[in-house]
Amino acid sequence: MKPQHQPNILDGKGLSLNILDSLKPRIEHLEKELGITPGLATILVGQDPASHVYIRNKRVACEKVGLKNFHYDLPEDTGQEKLLEIIQTLNEDQNIHGILVQLPLPKGLDYREKEILESIIPSKDADGFHPTNQGALMQGNKAPTPCTPKGIMRLLEETGVDGAGKKAVVIGRSNIVGKPVAMLLLAKNFTVTICHAHTKDLFKEVVEADVIVVAVGVPELVKGKWIKPGAIVIDVGINRKENGKLVGDVEFEVAKNQASFITPVPGGVGPMTIAMLLSNTIESAELMLKEKN
Ligand code: NAP
Repeated sequence: MKPQHQPNILDGKGLSLNILDSLKPRIEHLEKELGITPGLATILVGQDPASHVYIRNKRVACEKVGLKNFHYDLPEDTGQEKLLEIIQTLNEDQNIHGILVQLPLPKGLDYREKEILESIIPSKDADGFHPTNQGALMQGNKAPTPCTPKGIMRLLEETGVDGAGKKAVVIGRSNIVGKPVAMLLLAKNFTVTICHAHTKDLFKEVVEADVIVVAVGVPELVKGKWIKPGAIVIDVGINRKENGKLVGDVEFEVAKNQASFITPVPGGVGPMTIAMLLSNTIESAELMLKEKN
């Protein structure tokens, strides 16, 4: 039997490839006309296997578009002071336009993550995690925007949804996804509700939403039948099941029959995050150059 309506799968992978392609001429322009190749410094501390995969994907994307990558593969016991010293050098290096420290930092050692992130100068904060940039986001000022929320907004743009008069529900309130995406949705005139672990009745919130963004990290927390017919579902979660399969925070197989648009996991938000990282680095290079002239 045919489903009542065929949902549109929001193909983050395909869109991210288009975005990466669109970055190439901007890099070429910076190189040919102005003699600058934008550079992204990536710092990885320790041996966390997932972090290694994430960093590798970011470095591969840099290579694909012609962005210079300066990679620091540091041992677990590098230490806070040494790490701060490296970041300070990168802050002052004219060849670097973006700096990224892969999180989480190794546990059990005396790493103070907040101090590390705050030591990156805001103009080179490719991840958009610096409090100055997060403050700018709150106030609607231009600044590097956290990559996953920026990628989510780009995916929503593809659907053509207009926020005016629409309800958006964000599940999760982390500084890197939930809170910033809520601010971006608000800026697009959505009426926004933020849910978290203490929300009493998640179903009650979700069932009324026109747009649902889920960033929790609990496999299939949001049931497909909770989705209002025609709603847009953005699934940020990445969870590995015991059988090795990756799943999101939404019960995809059921939700896809309710939603007008839905992101798959993998292949939805993940690749968009990387495209936005590169985009942030190029924007920083363009801005630094503009300010110089
Ligand atoms: P996080 O910092 O652990 O935050 C999780 C949030 O979920 C918290 O705000 C927590 O509420 C809330 N929560 C936990 N259990 C809940 C429940 N039963 N009902 C409602 N809310 C609940 O996570 P994160 O860093 O934002 O990441 C979330 C997920 O997205 C993870 O799976 C991560 O791997 C994935 N992720 C993907 C990308 C990508 O590029 N695709 C990027 C970043 C993250 P409290 O605040 O009340 O504890």
